[in-house]
Amino acid sequence: MYTTHTKSLLNDARAERDALISLRRHFHMHPEISGQERETQAFVCATLEAWGIAASPLGETGVVATLKGAEPGPCMLLRADMDALPIDETAPVPFRSRVPGVMHACGHDTHMAMLLVAAKMLRERGLPRGSVRCLFQPAEEGGGGAQMMIDAGVLRAPVPDAALALHVWSLFATGEVAIIDGPVMAAVDGFEIEITGRGTHGATPESGIDPIAIAAQLVTAAQQIVARRIAPHDAAVLTFGRIQGGSAFNIIPEQVRLLGTLRSFVPEVRAQLRDALADLVAHLPAAMGATGRIAYFTEHAATVNDPRIAAVVRDLAASLPGVTAIQPRPLMAGEDFGLILAQVPGAMILVGCGGSTPADAAPHHHPDFAVDEDCLPMGTALLVGTAERFLATR
Ligand SMILES: [Zn+2]
Ligand SMILES: [Zn+2]
Repeated sequence: MYTTHTKSLLNDARAERDALISLRRHFHMHPEISGQERETQAFVCATLEAWGIAASPLGETGVVATLKGAEPGPCMLLRADMDALPIDETAPVPFRSRVPGVMHACGHDTHMAMLLVAAKMLRERGLPRGSVRCLFQPAEEGGGGAQMMIDAGVLRAPVPDAALALHVWSLFATGEVAIIDGPVMAAVDGFEIEITGRGTHGATPESGIDPIAIAAQLVTAAQQIVARRIAPHDAAVLTFGRIQGGSAFNIIPEQVRLLGTLRSFVPEVRAQLRDALADLVAHLPAAMGATGRIAYFTEHAATVNDPRIAAVVRDLAASLPGVTAIQPRPLMAGEDFGLILAQVPGAMILVGCGGSTPADAAPHHHPDFAVDEDCLPMGTALLVGTAERFLATR
């Protein structure tokens, strides 16, 4: 019975293709940035209620809906993120964003459509036992949304026994699904550095302290942390994304401000990076007579898959025609689902949405970003099937 159930899964998901596409396009045309997902929240609630699934707002702009099986049993959490990005869409699609300067350029519109239809399918196919908690999480793009949902109680009463999230990924072909054991995405630290010198005339450097010259040395010296302090087999990235300072060609300014990010997978490496950079900021400017200050922000842990849950998804993927499980290297991008996976064993999978030539696809966070909608039934089937298999075998 279990096998026939699984066999019909992809067909059932394909039968929902029109609903998936129309939901996804609705979200795409009405994007809202992190923390402002109010219309999105109302639409998600209304859609679930229309299908007879009780939904409640969670936190400011999140939504939670729990499907209960006939018998008690374990609880599986399925999560979709909800927010769009401050990008002006240029993709030549008829369902282009109706909100100037805001775009679903990461695919979170597809995640919501897939989780909504997954909830509908789980209800229609019937849950023999256990429960599925569907979480629609706001503010993934640096807004602290996962933490807000945890603070609002999404991991309590009962504590979920497993968690699954998916992310569409345009660099993988449609049909490919990355199911990785261990780290999938990196821990993310942002940092802001201020170097304060002493401003003066550009012609008389000896009467001031030049923070631009010191910042230039700091940017170069900081790469030595990755090259010489971190072991070669440990992945680490240190990137400066912004330097601000000065106002004219002949003025040595008072201050330079630098923004950047650290990426790592292992807590020890993360601490090493943070400590080494703080050390450098304290000492390199000081050696030149300036002062350095560093502050860290937007921090979240690495997203680490539990191999047991990844195996459930991989077995399922092998049974779905047209789906190929792949094992790429982990990504140095970040994902705040890592905060949930730090408390609940689970997995984040990457569902290819790049069509047949992913090399030509625009990357995520690009104004031309587009999704091959053929991936929608596959992603939905993976959500539904993983929950069904996990609940049936636990
Ligand atoms: Zn993103
Ligand atoms: Zn994203």
